[in-house]
Amino acid sequence: MRINPLTRGRSQNPKPIGVGSLASRFGVLTPIPFISSLALVCLIFLAACQKDREQSAELFVFGTIVEIKLWGASPEEASHAFSEIQGMFQGMHRDWHAWEPGRLMDINKAFSEGKAAVADKDIVEMVRRSQSIETDTGGRFNPAIGALIRLWGFHTSDYPITGPPPSQDQIDEILELKPSSQDIRINGLEIRSVNPAVQLDFGGIAKGQAVDLTIALLRKLGIDNAIVNAGGDLRAIGTHGDRPWRVAVRKPGGGTIGSIQVRGDESIFTSGNYERFRQDKTERYPHILDPNTGWPAKDIASVTVISREGLLADAAATALVVAGIDGWPTVARALKLDQVAVVDESGRIYLTIAMKQRIEFAGDEERVTIDLGKL
Ligand code: ADP
Ligand code: MG
Repeated sequence: MRINPLTRGRSQNPKPIGVGSLASRFGVLTPIPFISSLALVCLIFLAACQKDREQSAELFVFGTIVEIKLWGASPEEASHAFSEIQGMFQGMHRDWHAWEPGRLMDINKAFSEGKAAVADKDIVEMVRRSQSIETDTGGRFNPAIGALIRLWGFHTSDYPITGPPPSQDQIDEILELKPSSQDIRINGLEIRSVNPAVQLDFGGIAKGQAVDLTIALLRKLGIDNAIVNAGGDLRAIGTHGDRPWRVAVRKPGGGTIGSIQVRGDESIFTSGNYERFRQDKTERYPHILDPNTGWPAKDIASVTVISREGLLADAAATALVVAGIDGWPTVARALKLDQVAVVDESGRIYLTIAMKQRIEFAGDEERVTIDLGKL
């Protein structure tokens, strides 16, 4: 997790959002300009207007470039919004980091000593939401397993890491203590854990909460048309002028499944096992752990979830990876999510009916299995 306070405020034509090598992630597609037989001068004038209506910036948070695009805001409004957001990201980095000194490390230290700690309203909110999502997912999403994540060496920004996995004894030692977000007691802004093994790690929801808070801040500033794209995980509100925001659905290993038009206010989040992992000779150990076994979740390459809220989409995508090919439909139902895309290790794509209706395919339709008939 790292914040580089780089702000590139700019006004430009829409172009694909750079999401690096993140496969099965989303980027904003280039809207295809409508070329008519109108006089060239008219087109140039229109293009200039379009240009001025979009403002964008790239900020760093959680080791990810966050691209923010606003439609219809003035340059002054945009630069004010971008600097507010940058300040907010710096606060998140300080307060939510699982392995750099800051508020969350203080909280984890207090937990291990059986003491109370002072949180802030965002951390309290993440704890509360985690408690209910942990229950709904049968413990597949569990942000209290920080000790396990640390044991696997995943408290780093430098992937891939190399070397053998921890021993079963080391894993069992933590599992036996059953860390759970349910062990946390909240009293106003004061939190404590009745289980000293609880170590919070918000890696599975921090991006979702960050995107939600960014959208909330933009709305507070009177901006109603925006997309906030954190390395392919995004939330969009309003429209891009007279058309919807549009994002590309990429797949693990490169290429795209198709594209999606974002409607009104929606979040699209992807979790996968192909990007952050431990490599031991030929064996790969991805960074999403099954809290019940202490071992990485393996048979799903990626899960993409659409929901209104970023936090829920983020947590759900992580939990569905853990649930695996057999378990994801049940967990999706428990979370009341109907728009899910799953890619398995062999590249086969599974879609809920509602998700199938959202994707405009780019030629991969014959490999699609439609699951969850009832959803
Ligand atoms: P990404 O980092 O690619 O967005 P995720 O949203 O799935 O991926 O988050 C993965 C991170 O969540 C891990 O690096 C770790 O910090 C944390 N994590 C791993 N397994 C779990 C789990 N079962 N429940 C909650 N958090 C987890
Ligand atoms: Mg997640």
